[in-house]
Amino acid sequence: MTSPKRILLVGLTCVDIISVAKEFPKEDSDQRALDYYWQRGGNASNSATVLSLLGANVECLSSLSNDPLYQFIKSNFKEYGVKTDHCPIHDSREMKNPTTVIILSDQSGSRTTLANTKDHIEVSSKDFEAVDLHLYRWIHFEGRRNCDEIKKMISRVREFNISLPELDHIIVSVELEKINRVYDLIIDQGDYVFISKDYAMEQGFTDKLSAVNGLISRCRPGSIIICPWAELGAAARSWSGEVHQCDAFSPGKIVDTLAAGDTFIAASILALNSGRSIQETLEFACRVAGTKCGMVGFKGLE
Ligand code: ADP
Repeated sequence: MTSPKRILLVGLTCVDIISVAKEFPKEDSDQRALDYYWQRGGNASNSATVLSLLGANVECLSSLSNDPLYQFIKSNFKEYGVKTDHCPIHDSREMKNPTTVIILSDQSGSRTTLANTKDHIEVSSKDFEAVDLHLYRWIHFEGRRNCDEIKKMISRVREFNISLPELDHIIVSVELEKINRVYDLIIDQGDYVFISKDYAMEQGFTDKLSAVNGLISRCRPGSIIICPWAELGAAARSWSGEVHQCDAFSPGKIVDTLAAGDTFIAASILALNSGRSIQETLEFACRVAGTKCGMVGFKGLE
C-alpha cells in the first residue's frame, strides 16, 4: 500500500529550554525551579509533532545548523516520526540553531518565552525549489520575517496546482501569529488562514468573532479564516459568510499551555484534510488543544 500524500509544515524549529517555576518570578528575585527540561520547539516543528502523533504522514521544512544541538533535533524528529528530507543545514559559523528560554508557571500554566533567533537564516524560496511538490497534499506556512519569500513559495505551489485536477490540488494554509506588519503580506495567500489572538488584538479586535468577521475581507476569495482564542475557544468564517464558533475544552487543571496554538493548528489541518466540516474541525481542534493544556509536552496526545 502506498502511504498517503504528506502534510508539509514550513517554518521554525528551535530548542526550547524550559524551567518550571512554582509561580512566575518577580524581576531580580531568586527562586528554585521545580523542574527543567529541553524539548524540540518552534511553531512548524510543534505542529508537525502533533500531526505525526495523530497519525498523519508529515514532514517539516526548517532551516537548521550543524551546531551541537543538531543531533538532538534530528534524533527527536525521528523519534516522533517527522520527516526532515528537505531541511537546509547551515554551517554553525553562519547560524546557530535557535533556542527559546521558557518559564512555565506551575500555578497558572502560563508560559513566558524569550526567543533567540538573532542570526537565524529563514527558509528561502530557493530551498523550497528542492521540494518535489508531487509528494504533498497540504502545505502549511508559518508566517515569519521572510513573508516575501513565503509568497514566492506559495506562487510555486499555485502554479503547480494549475496542471492538476482540482481534487488533487495542494491545499495551502498560512499562519499569522506574531505582531508584525510583515505578516500582512501573506494574509491573502492561504486557502485556510490561521490568525492568533495576539495578531487579531493588535489589529484592534477584542474577541474571536469580531476578528474573523473583520479580517475575512483581507483573505483570498474562497478561503476560510480560523482564529483560536485561548480559554475562550475558537471561531471561523468562510469567504461566503458562514460563521462558526466553539468553546474551549477544559482539561481540568491547566498544566502546560506551551504550543497550544500549534496543537490547535495541527488538529485543524488533520480534520480539514480528512474532510470534516468547519464546525467539526473547530470542535476537534479545541478538544485536542485543550487536552494538550492538561499535560506536559505532547506525549499522551495520541
Ligand atoms: P497560542 O498558544 O498560539 O497563544 P491560544 O492561547 O489561542 O494559542 O490557544 C489555542 C487553543 O488552545 C485555543 O483555541 C483552545 O482550544 C486551547 N487552549 C488554550 N488555552 C486554553 C485553556 N486555558 N483552557 C482550555 N483550552 C485552551
